[in-house]
Amino acid sequence: MRKDYDQKKQPVVLVVDDDIAVRLLMCESLEQAGMIVKEAENGVEALSVFKRVSPDIVMLDVKMPKMDGFTACSRLRQLPGGYDVSIVMVTGLDDVKSIQRAYDAGATDFITKPVNWPILNHRVRYLLRAREAFRGLRRSEARLTQAQRIARLGNWDWNIVDNKLYWSDEIYNIFGLEPHAFGRTYEAFLELVHPEDRGYVENAVDKALHANKPYSIDHRIILPDGTERTVHKQAQVIFDETGKPFSMHGIIQDITEHKKAEAKIRFLAYYDVLTGLPNRRLFKEYSIQAIRMAQRNRSKVAILYLDLDNFKRINDTLGHNVGDKLLQKISENMMAVIRTSDVVARIDIVARTDSENRPVTSISRLGGDEFTILLPGLTEIKHAVLVAKRIIKCLGLPVKVAGHELYVTGSIGIAIYPDDGEDLDTLLKNADTAMYHAKDAGRNNFQFYAKHMNELTLARLNMEAELKKALERNEFIVYYQPQVEVTTSTIVGVEALIRWEHPKMGLVSPTEFIPITEETGLIILIGEWVLRTACAQVAAWHKAGFNPLRIGVNLSSYQFKQGDIVKSLKNVLAATGLDPQYLELELTESIIMQDTEETIATLWKLKEMGLNLSIDDFGTGYSSMNYLKRFPLDTLKIDRSFIKDIMTDPNDSAITKAIIGLAKGLGLTTIAEGVETEEQLTFLRKQGCDQIQGYFISRPLPAEKLEQLFLRSNKAKR
Ligand code: C2E
Ligand code: CA
Ligand code: CA
Repeated sequence: MRKDYDQKKQPVVLVVDDDIAVRLLMCESLEQAGMIVKEAENGVEALSVFKRVSPDIVMLDVKMPKMDGFTACSRLRQLPGGYDVSIVMVTGLDDVKSIQRAYDAGATDFITKPVNWPILNHRVRYLLRAREAFRGLRRSEARLTQAQRIARLGNWDWNIVDNKLYWSDEIYNIFGLEPHAFGRTYEAFLELVHPEDRGYVENAVDKALHANKPYSIDHRIILPDGTERTVHKQAQVIFDETGKPFSMHGIIQDITEHKKAEAKIRFLAYYDVLTGLPNRRLFKEYSIQAIRMAQRNRSKVAILYLDLDNFKRINDTLGHNVGDKLLQKISENMMAVIRTSDVVARIDIVARTDSENRPVTSISRLGGDEFTILLPGLTEIKHAVLVAKRIIKCLGLPVKVAGHELYVTGSIGIAIYPDDGEDLDTLLKNADTAMYHAKDAGRNNFQFYAKHMNELTLARLNMEAELKKALERNEFIVYYQPQVEVTTSTIVGVEALIRWEHPKMGLVSPTEFIPITEETGLIILIGEWVLRTACAQVAAWHKAGFNPLRIGVNLSSYQFKQGDIVKSLKNVLAATGLDPQYLELELTESIIMQDTEETIATLWKLKEMGLNLSIDDFGTGYSSMNYLKRFPLDTLKIDRSFIKDIMTDPNDSAITKAIIGLAKGLGLTTIAEGVETEEQLTFLRKQGCDQIQGYFISRPLPAEKLEQLFLRSNKAKR
């Protein structure tokens, strides 16, 4: 560029001086050097000549009549083109004051009189070149700013030593900030990062500083008006000779629109536009992932294939618009069902995996009026039943669309991985077949692909109905199993264990029916009945003069979650007159692990009422030291599964020893469950276990039978 300038364009110099001799000599020397020279006699004339010839450089005398050089200089600067012209003040006086004034007035440089003529043209040429370089710089800066604006990209650098952050204009634009409103430190920047992304950003920076690696991340920022945007950030660290990082520099680009477009493309490819549900393609991806996970942890996957029974008729008679709206409403309703279903722990309909990267329950629309529901990580088939039932129940509700009250029902076919197929295609085909069976069976129901599953569910449904009547019909009985103090061999307590005597089915085990009462909510009533019966029985024994026995009653986590357990206990204690110190509540670890403020508060309330709390089946659940310390517990019941092989499995004996030691350390009483032999008792005695319960002492017995045992054991002692 400079070359071009030298060769093609002759520079124009405006010489302003009232002294004609100076003007002449200047003309002479500059024209000699190939420049065009224009003249003016004073400041006023200089302004008008300037406008006419637009010079590249002005040589301006300081002392002139009419208008002096300083005034002329500042006036010139205000003219169009005056901003970046080079103005050289020619001062007669070599004093500091006038030099300072010259610069204040906007001069580029100065020379002093007497002028050194032979070097004048070199000086001017140099100034012209400097001006050209400066202009070039300004042009490229302007181009850079413009480019940054177009790309929504800015550059920054951060001086780590004094924590000063420089941002280019565009970064201020991206962050919606005025330069004065920004603190220009790393911390001030972090403040602008979305709180959820802050840790991530800090991590990246730390890593870059310590590992000497450039980084490139995307994160969200919050603008002053609260809007959220996404930026792409790239950075590099500069280290000093000793290897210490001293600065970091990089770029920030606003990629919000980009992300939005990406999300939209993804949405169109993977979601059903009408309902917003995942489409067939995404369903396939989810399923394959779920199957893969199930293969790894040997769990199951259920695929529910749903077809609406009477949708076509509605669509044909009321039109597509109504049909579409109906599908939307139904989808919303089903989504709510899935979301609130307590069967599946973590559900996010949009995300394909949960926070631990496991596939989640999802509902998809395959097209038309066909939907699928994917239940990954299934541990029990009954969960699939539960979801199917809920979906059918939800579909049965009337839906209001465009003034019509519409009723749809659905038929569901269920296929289970791996039982009904090893791959997705087979599973889908079998779920479809099962769905047709459901239609054949009268619609508005569900069917498993495997026939025996249907029988199982049928039996279950039957049991559910029977359980509902069992309380009224007095079919429940409480059995009692004694608990014996190891050192004295006396019966110190009993555990209440419920039994169901069904007229046709016979004696049904609580392990079979308790889960059903939990799902149906019957457990609240039944649990209270057990409490009342057991407390009344023990109070009666106390009255009859038997040793002051303690009664252990099992509590289900549902009684905690859904019932008002505190109130119900108060009622029972008041009604039976039992002293609360003789009642011990057996809690499962799952109750403790709910670990909500509410649970903790409830446990303390129970404790304050004077009740004892024990942990049942200890060792089979989470068994965390944490809760043992945090909750007001009295007793630990060592699970039967450890006691069973205590004499043969060194692992089990070691665990038992450890649990007893642990309990001792925390001041808790230990009860070993399921003690069946003398050897087991001897071992436990040696380990310092406090009490035992099990067939070795007695099976659970009805109250009358147990009384005989009391009498016998009392006699034996006497
Ligand atoms: P659990 O609380 O662990 O009760 C102990 C179970 O072990 C009882 O089974 C008992 O009969 C059995 N058992 C006792 N000693 C031995 C032994 O030496 N060997 C063997 N093999 N088994 C022994 P049961 O009565 O069938 O009760 C099963 C489970 O049902 C109970 O386990 C408890 O979780 C639940 N349950 C029973 N009654 C109630 C109740 O009233 N409410 C609630 N929520 N759950 C109950
Ligand atoms: Ca128990
Ligand atoms: Ca137990």
